[in-house]
Amino acid sequence: MISFFENFLLDVLFPKKCVFCGRYSEGFVCKNCLKKLKFPEYYCLSCGQPLTVDLQICYNCNKEERKWDGYEFVAYYEDGWKDIISLFKFKNKPYIADFFSQIGSKKILRKKWKIDYITYVPLSYKTLKERGYNQSEYLAYFLSKSLKVAYGPLLYLKKNIKPQKTLNLKEREENMMNAFGVIENREINGNILLVDDVYTTGTTLKECTRTLKKSFNLDKVYIFTAVRVLI
Ligand SMILES: [Zn+2]
Ligand SMILES: [Zn+2]
Repeated sequence: MISFFENFLLDVLFPKKCVFCGRYSEGFVCKNCLKKLKFPEYYCLSCGQPLTVDLQICYNCNKEERKWDGYEFVAYYEDGWKDIISLFKFKNKPYIADFFSQIGSKKILRKKWKIDYITYVPLSYKTLKERGYNQSEYLAYFLSKSLKVAYGPLLYLKKNIKPQKTLNLKEREENMMNAFGVIENREINGNILLVDDVYTTGTTLKECTRTLKKSFNLDKVYIFTAVRVLI
């Protein structure tokens, strides 16, 4: 959990620089850069793939049984968004989560999802130790502040997984199979918002959703990620 001290530091060290160009800015993004950023318009409500026709669910999501009950994200992983994700994940700038959650919480509120608890995809102990923070936990933390819903960990990684990047879809599924355990002794009911930084094939999110639904008395699991990779 993010401590009071870290929270205090985030407030004090709050950057007054545009995260894209580094120039002085009132918020996270200066007006110049904001004009250049693309936001998704018509997309599948279940997986975020762009839709050109007036559909709500894409062909693939219609075909297979859906694991979760709704999906929202901020942008596609392209252009300037790639740089911001790199800073967010690898350059010790976890406060960028605030920027994503400001946009994300507005989109989530528009959906009128009833959310009882927010949780996030865990990192392995090794990655967490190397990076020093879990960027998805920061997303959950800021979403929790703006949506006024409690957040906390529910999942942990119980087996060694290979980096998903190097694997094809079938290998990804095998890699994630039974990868997560749940933190015991939690009384969680109702609807959960599950948060991750990047949605690529959805394999990790599917396995997390399956584990959560199997382990807790849940009604719905909604998904939020900062970005969606176009594949
Ligand atoms: Zn800028
Ligand atoms: Zn879809």
